[in-house]
Formats: sequence, C-alpha cells, structure tokens
Amino acid sequence: MKTGSNRYDVCIVGAGVCGANIARRLSAYDLDVVLVDKEVDVSFGVSKANSGIVHGGFHHSKKYLKARLEIQGAMMFERLRQELDFPFKRCGIVVAALHEDEMRAIEQLYMQGVDNGVIGIEMCSRERMLDLEPKLNPDVLGGLWVPGGGIVEPYRFVFSLVESAVKNGVQIMTGFKVAAAVRAGEEWTIRAADGRSIRAAYVVNAAGLFADEVSEVFGAEEFAIKPRKGEYYLLDRMTKARPNRVVFPVPTSVSKGLLVIPTVEGTVLIGPTAESVDDKCDLATTRDQLEKILSSARMMIPSISEYDVITSFAGLRPTLGEDFYIDMSQKVPNLVQVAGIESPGLTASPAIGEYVKDLLKKAGLKLREKVDYDPFVGKRLHVKDLSPYEVDELAAADPNYANMVCRCEKVSEAEIIEAVRAGHTTLDGIKYFTRAQMGRCQGGFCTYKIIKIIMRETGLSWQDITKNGGESQILKDAL
Ligand SMILES: Cc1cc2nc3c(=O)[nH]c(=O)nc-3n(C[C@H](O)[C@H](O)[C@H](O)COP(=O)(O)OP(=O)(O)OC[C@H]3O[C@@H](n4cnc5c(N)ncnc54)[C@H](O)[C@@H]3O)c2cc1C
Repeated sequence: MKTGSNRYDVCIVGAGVCGANIARRLSAYDLDVVLVDKEVDVSFGVSKANSGIVHGGFHHSKKYLKARLEIQGAMMFERLRQELDFPFKRCGIVVAALHEDEMRAIEQLYMQGVDNGVIGIEMCSRERMLDLEPKLNPDVLGGLWVPGGGIVEPYRFVFSLVESAVKNGVQIMTGFKVAAAVRAGEEWTIRAADGRSIRAAYVVNAAGLFADEVSEVFGAEEFAIKPRKGEYYLLDRMTKARPNRVVFPVPTSVSKGLLVIPTVEGTVLIGPTAESVDDKCDLATTRDQLEKILSSARMMIPSISEYDVITSFAGLRPTLGEDFYIDMSQKVPNLVQVAGIESPGLTASPAIGEYVKDLLKKAGLKLREKVDYDPFVGKRLHVKDLSPYEVDELAAADPNYANMVCRCEKVSEAEIIEAVRAGHTTLDGIKYFTRAQMGRCQGGFCTYKIIKIIMRETGLSWQDITKNGGESQILKDAL
C-alpha cells in the first residue's frame, strides 16, 4: 500500500469512463494506483457528452475487438449498478425501417446480432414495432427489437466508479496534464504541465481525444485521433414525444444515425450528427444541424416538437480507425494504449477495465487480491425520488433537505452540499453530480444559489467560481 512517496505501480492517464473502469478494476488488487486527469474534475472529456446508451451488440461484427468488448461490457451493467448505484435502465432498443430497401439492412443487422449471441433479438413486423413503441411513425414498415439495450447517465457512472476506486485506495490527481515522460530503470517519471511529477512502473494511456498526444509524450506509437462531432438537442421531460425504447434508424456507414433517446432521468435526447472537425475543442452547435436532427427525429416519432427543445450540446468522438486500439505498446516498455475509443466505448468500458487488467498481468504486473476490497458505494438520497413525508423526516434532521435549489430537477441544498463535499466545485461538476441546472430553465433559477453554496462551503471567492475550470469563470466580467 501507499507509503507517502509519489511512486505508483500503475498510473492511468485520463479519468473518463475507460480510465475510471480501469482504476476501479485495479483497485481490487494490492497495488498503488494513481488516476490523473488534466481537467479539474473527472468525466469532463468525451465521457460527459454522448448518447448514454448501453448498446445491444448487433451494430458491429464480432471480428472487431470493439464488438466483443461491447457485448461483454453490456452484460456487466446490472451488477455494477447494484454495487455503484448510478442511473441505469434496460429499456430495450428498436431499429425502425421506414423504406422497403431498409428491411434488407434490418435483416443483416439481425443476422449479425444472432451471430454475436445477442439475447432476445427479434425481426419485427409493423404491428409488433408499434406495439413495442406506440409513438413510432405509423408508416413504419418493420424493424428490429433488442431487449438488452439500455440507457445510463454517463457522468454519474464515472463519478460512482471513481468514488469506488478511491474508497479502495486509488489516488486521484486532477489538473494534472501529462506533459513529459522519461523511462529510467524500471519506471516512468511523468511530469505534469504545472511541474508536479510522479513515478510509475506501468502507465495506461486512456486520454480519449488526446491519446495520440500522450502517446507522443511517452515516445510510443504515432497515430492521429480525429474528432468527429455529434450535436444533440435535449427535450424537456414534459414532452409528449418521449418513447419507452431507444429508437434507432437504420445505420449509415459512418454512424448509427440520428436517434431518439429517452434518457434514464426522464428527458429526451435527439441526435447525434456525425461531422469530422479539426479542432478537438470544437463543441459548438448550429441551427442547421438542429433542423436536420429535428426532421430526422420526426420521421421516426412525428410528435417531436421544436417547442420542447430546452438546450443543445455536442460531443466529439475520438476516432482512429475501424476498431479500438487497446494493446501494450510495441515501442516502449510497460505502456498500455487505450485509444480510438469511440462508440460503443461507454458500453464496452467495464470490459475494457477487465481487458487492460489482463494485459497488465501478462506484462508482469503482480495481481494479489485485496482482502478488504469493498465493491459497494453508499446509496445517495435524491429528494425528487422521495415522498413529501420522507422529505419532512429528513428535513427534521437536516433542514437543507427542505430547501429546493433546483426547482426543475428537484434538487435540494443538502444534495448540492454533498456534491461540493465530494470534491465537485465547478458548476458543471455539480450539474453532473446532482442534475441541478439540467432542467427546463437550464440554471436560470438556481445558478446564483449554487455559486453561493460553493463559496460558503469552499471559501472560494466569486471570481474563482468556474463553469468547468480554467478560464471559464462565471462572474469575471461582472464588475
Ligand atoms: C456523440 C457521441 C455519442 C456517443 N454515444 C455513445 C453511446 O451511446 N454508447 C456508447 O457506448 N458510447 C458512446 N459514445 C462513445 C463514448 O462516449 C466514448 O467511447 C467514451 O466516453 C470514451 O471514454 P474515454 O475514457 O476513452 O475518453 P474521455 O472521456 O475523453 O477521457 C479521457 C480523459 O483524458 C484526459 N486527458 C487528455 N489528455 C490528457 C493529458 N495530457 N493529461 C492528463 N489527462 C488527459 C481528458 O481530460 C479526459 O478526461 C459516444 C461518443 C460521442 C462523442
């Protein structure tokens, strides 16, 4: 166990869903593990903005590593949810064919699903499709039903994984941008941009969009991660167009198409687009794409209305080639590359944790199970899930439960305080942890209240409060 030095058995670069799963998996063993990220909080990279779907295992041939990890990962979610208490539901997936020629693609997806061993996959008639999802366009011709598909809140998944990893001894270093690395003897010395340094016997490069740059820092393989943008629109939870299942169109050669997703927390997402961009930080959304997304989503669910849109956002897929690149570096010692993890990376991530653990073991890392490993994290209370009677009882002991900070998503002051005390001190960190600012008013009512709570709990001044770290101060031009 850790002796207070800055020397670790394993350093994982990148606290997205891959790094977090790897860290948690390694936390079951008697190892000193550190998880570093350049951002001020975990899950601030690709893992914060995606469709949140636990995929069904039928989109890719199992000749690809990503398909095999997707199938294995998807099966691990029930157990993870029991242990980690994050929002997840196996609501099922329908793929809707609206043109005669799409039925051939449906048949191919079905055959691929059967070949991949997808449980319960079914080719459906028009009637069966409308029975499964009554909000579908009545002109649907048929489609596919995959009962094992699901939905998950991606950032809450990462937060829970990290909480569990920390509980079992993993150290987290945020604001640690890996900038230089040298190998001397049996270990790597890794330097951050701010001058901090750590040493580690093994390194895992799980740096998402920046895995190519981190590989270069270690003098390892040269490759280029190309960002592919996906824009989304979020519909209010009051929309009448919320389906019960995730609704997919027939996929294209570059993406799974524009979807209608009933999020696990009750809103609806439509999107994502698929557009290659040059800038790894380009998260802009555009009116043009909104029109495109709306018209495509309405083809599947005609009752979707522009008036239900409450916000837009974008995510960037870290694309590399046809498959995930997960392997020991062939160029430098003791470095695992976890790169090109685009969709279905969220679904596959628990299996990626297993896979990387096995690679490290083969590379000589000694794995001795920890006798006191505890896979469970405590259950969190959410006022929105409680009856008024239960809230009264809680408020008798802690009046902060009776103070509703976010009215749209029903988040109490007690929950905001809990988020801050868990280390989430930016507005986005609190948003992802509690859902405050995610509702109809998008923070119009609660942002200033949250700022005041952060200031009170942390001692930070108003100039220091940021949306997501760095230069994103909220009130910098206020005076
Ligand atoms: C639009 C879109 C939709 C998607 N939908 C789905 C879906 O529905 N289902 C699904 O299964 N998958 C989906 N995916 C894929 C999934 O989101 C990704 O595969 C997954 O989030 C990748 O996680 P990661 O941990 O590899 O990367 P990230 O989450 O980006 O984590 C990498 C981390 O590395 C850090 N980092 C980078 N450089 C450095 C450095 N130099 N030093 C320290 N830290 C560094 C970053 O800050 C970041 O936090 C989607 C992706 C997108 C973009």
